[in-house]
Amino acid sequence: MATTSYAIALGSNRRHVRHGGPEGVVRAAVAALGELGEVEGVSAIHRTPALGPAGRSFANAALLLASELPPLELLAAIKRIERRFGRRPGRRWGPRVLDLDIILWSQGAFRAPRLAIPHPEMARRDFVLRPLAEIAAEWRDPLSGRSVRQLAALRTRNRS
Ligand code: AMP
Repeated sequence: MATTSYAIALGSNRRHVRHGGPEGVVRAAVAALGELGEVEGVSAIHRTPALGPAGRSFANAALLLASELPPLELLAAIKRIERRFGRRPGRRWGPRVLDLDIILWSQGAFRAPRLAIPHPEMARRDFVLRPLAEIAAEWRDPLSGRSVRQLAALRTRNRS
């Protein structure tokens, strides 16, 4: 398959024995994602207050990856990376060492039973939009036609 680009969101709210706190986990995850293709951009690491009952704040970042993997193979690969970092499956809001989500794909929308691109929650998540706006502000959500910059601005406006 030809090389295409993906926007990937990274999040952690747990320590890892080797990588340290959530920031260290996110930095190590950036290196791990580099095994799947070429990293074309990485945002700063943002601190985000805990979501739901998980109780600990998150480190979040966004990354642009050029890869030959098609979407379902990329999903399988990022799930393998999550498992390598010790993610516990099935606890949606529980503490997690590493969470990786595919947000956008250069080929537009993709839908399968276990994968939806654009990520269905992207427009509602500041912790996805803010880091992503640093590296892909003009990338348009193919469903709404809005750029990441516009979606981030809408979130900010709706909150105030
Ligand atoms: P999560 O809560 O992030 O661990 O996601 C749970 C499941 O959501 C995954 O195992 C995927 O099958 C599914 N999923 C659907 N769309 C996406 C996406 N865009 N990126 C990552 N996972 C997705």
